[in-house]
Parts: sequence; structure tokens; C-alpha cells
Amino acid sequence: MLERAPDDRLLRQWARVRGRLREEFGDAAFKSWLKPMVLQEVRDAGIRIAVPTRFMRDWVANHYGSRLATIWNEENSAIRAVDVIVAPSLSSSKTTPRTDAGDDDHEPSDAPAAVAEPEINDLSAPLDARFDFDSFVVGKPNELAYAAARRVAESEIAPFNPLFLYGGVGLGKTHLMHAIAWHIRQRNPKRRVMYLSAEKFMYQFIRALRHKDTVAFKDQFRSVDVLMIDDVQFISGKDSTQEEFFHTFNALVDQNRQVVISADKSPNDLEGIEDRMKSRLGWGLVADIHPTTYELRLGILQAKAERLGIPLPAKVLEFLAHKIASNVRELEGALNRIVAHGTLVGREIGLEMAQDVLHDLLRAHDRRVTIEEIQKRVAEHYNIRLSDMHSARRARAVARPRQVAMYLAKQLTARSLPEIGRKFGGRDHTTVMHAVRKIEELRGADPNFAEDVDLLRRMLET
Ligand code: ADP
Ligand code: MG
Repeated sequence: MLERAPDDRLLRQWARVRGRLREEFGDAAFKSWLKPMVLQEVRDAGIRIAVPTRFMRDWVANHYGSRLATIWNEENSAIRAVDVIVAPSLSSSKTTPRTDAGDDDHEPSDAPAAVAEPEINDLSAPLDARFDFDSFVVGKPNELAYAAARRVAESEIAPFNPLFLYGGVGLGKTHLMHAIAWHIRQRNPKRRVMYLSAEKFMYQFIRALRHKDTVAFKDQFRSVDVLMIDDVQFISGKDSTQEEFFHTFNALVDQNRQVVISADKSPNDLEGIEDRMKSRLGWGLVADIHPTTYELRLGILQAKAERLGIPLPAKVLEFLAHKIASNVRELEGALNRIVAHGTLVGREIGLEMAQDVLHDLLRAHDRRVTIEEIQKRVAEHYNIRLSDMHSARRARAVARPRQVAMYLAKQLTARSLPEIGRKFGGRDHTTVMHAVRKIEELRGADPNFAEDVDLLRRMLET
């Protein structure tokens, strides 16, 4: 029987498998279930993957098992089976003796060597090596957030506390937070930087409660110089965690330690968070990241292409920047897919090939929002009747919102101009074209208007 510890090649394949799982199942599922997996060993044609608890093993095996095996097989055709096992020493609760009998989520196994003590105490999540300031492309939509992040990273004393970064999914919040952490660690390794998701914060806190270990928990958090909590919207509702978070937050800010928070909404718009907390979160600098513009998307694609060292025709990059407007993560995914396809199949990368490879993705995008939804949202937003989207009324108060809706229909769906015209009370395609131009012109001339339209677009996209 062949049995061995994973070598470099396998570890690289494993990294790719994880990347694909993350892409497929999304960040939240990945973080909760897939990230804790550890590649343990290879036996014959099977691979063993360890997770910290029995519950997790069952969940991963039931929900992701077959996909895991398929992806592994695609990365390495010698792998035929994937076995998920429990290795409780992977759990960071290792230092705490488990006495509560009701807690059946672990079982003995021939676990790998214990994780080193300091690692256990370090609650900070690992940082992604690719997320530094150098690889972050700056444009209008993110320039404030970027400048603020840099300032925080370069200052010994908190310039604003907290720094609150917010914006839609996949727009670079996590990237900026990691970049801050890298920068600080590099400049002054003595400063203690802790980065973790709000979900993990919650999880750790609940565990500490369960093990009556909250004092140590508090001490750990309160001894850091910089605390960064990602996706704080997940803390909403969970009362005791919120309370604890609030205390930790206050203690750190009072001592002038830097706190950086990210969320998908502004402090005021966070749901299920107490008012005093909302107001406290907004005390420092609140910087939002706007949806990407075409220019930024193109810039990001060019930077990524350069990093990959693969020559990609400008036409292809422009096509992607035009078509994949949702967020940077999807944009990257699309680019990776084209590059992977090109190198694997040995097909030359061109416009037609890109369209081919991204066929389903582009279609999914188009399906995402319908003209009817756009009309409804826009009518609500401008407080006009839905029927005015189809009516012949030409008063500015209804004509302008109608033009906005046509513009968004053009941007967010794959419908042709005549098709869009038909949905707006049987208007001619030249009317739609005129509307699109008009709105573009107004956007350029009036930043408030542009922001308004972006907001609508963001609501429709999520
Ligand atoms: P969020 O945390 O806001 O959901 P992420 O920070 O995870 O988004 O970003 C998603 C992906 O897009 C990451 O791979 C990140 O590196 C990339 N990304 C986002 N914004 C930029 C940017 N301005 N320049 C380069 N890459 C970016
Ligand atoms: Mg994030």
C-alpha cells in the first residue's frame, strides 16, 4: 500500500482545489466549512482530508464530498476517492480541556502532530499573500478607501478610529484589510495585528462562553495594537456577541488602538445592530467603495494579465470589462477561466474563444435582472407610478426616470435596443439609444446624479 504525506505538487493541487471550491460555493460556505480542511495524506488512489469536528466531517462529506472528489480528480487524475476524517487537534480549542459531555463533536483519531501553541492562541485568520497594496488597482470608486487604508497602515497612531470600510460584495474590502495588515507587519513586526471575520469572532466568543474561558478571550483581543474585523454585518442580531464586540471595540478605541471594520453597508444601514453601536462605528472615518467603473475594471484586468505574464489581446480585456460589471471577484474568475482554458486546451485566446468559454457565465448574468425589475425599482426610487414606465407622458418628472430605467436595462441585461423599447410601451429603438446617451451625459456632468444611478444599479445587482 502506498501511503505518504502530501508533497509540494500535491499541496499545489490542493491549493487549486480549494480555490475552485471557493469559487463554486462562495466565500461564506468556504469559510465556514471548507477552509478548515487540511490535506492529510495520500493512500493508494485516495486522499484524506481532515476537519476538526465530527459534525463538520458529516457536513462536508454530505454537502461537498462528491464535488470535492470530482475536482480532485480533475486536478490529478490519479486521485479516485476522497475521505473526510476527523482530527480534533486541528481545532483551535486544543488548549481548553473538553469536559462537557454533551459536546460530541469530536472523537479520537490518529491525528497529526499537535499544532504549535502560539498558533493556537493566535486567533488571527491567515492573510492572503496576493492582497497587498501593490496589487490593488486604484480608481475613482475606491480611491477614498484606498487612501484611508494606506494612512492607517503607515501611521503609528490611529489617524481615525475606527476606519469603517463598506461596499458591495467583491469590491476589495478584504483585499484592503489584508494589505493594511501586511504593511504593518512588515514595517513593525512588533505591532500585534489581528485580522478576522466577524463570523469567526462570534464563533470564538461562543466557544469561549461554552468553555467558561471568556477572560482569556477578552485578554487576547484587548492586547492587540490593531484589530480588524471583516464583514461585521454578520454580527447583527446575536445579542451577547454584539455586546462583547461592543465592549472590545470600546476598550481598544479608548486606548487608542487602531480598529478597522468592514461591512456591506454603512454603519447606519446595518440591520440588527444597536443604535449606540451604529453611532460608535461611524465616529472615525467611514469610507465607501463604489461599484466598479468600466475604466477600473479594465485597469484591474490589465494589472492581472501582466501579473500572469500571459499576453491577452486588448479586445478580450475590453470585452470582459464591458460584460462582467458585477464585481471584481467575478471579473477575476472570468479572466482565470479564459487563461486556464487557453493554456490547458492550447487554444489561442481571442474574442470568440472568450465568448465561448464564458457562455454560461454571461448568460447567468443576463438572467440575473429583468427589465420588469428594473422598471419597478426605478419607479419606486423616483416615486412615480410603474405605469409611467410605459406611458406616453413626457413630463420631465417621469421621462427622466424612464430614461434611467432604459439605461439600466441596457447596462444590466443583454436585451437589444428594440427589445428594450418594446418593454417601455412600444418605443422605438432610437428612443432607447437617445436615453442611454442622455443618461451617460448627465452622469458625466453631475456627480450626484451619477451616484444616484450607481446606487440603483447596485441595488439591482445584489
Ligand atoms: P470584498 O471583501 O469586498 O467582498 P475582496 O477584497 O475579497 O472583496 O475582493 C474580491 C477579489 O477582487 C479579490 O481577489 C481581490 O484581490 C480583487 N480585487 C478587488 N478590488 C480590487 C482592486 N481594486 N484591484 C485589484 N484587485 C481587486
Ligand atoms: Mg470580503
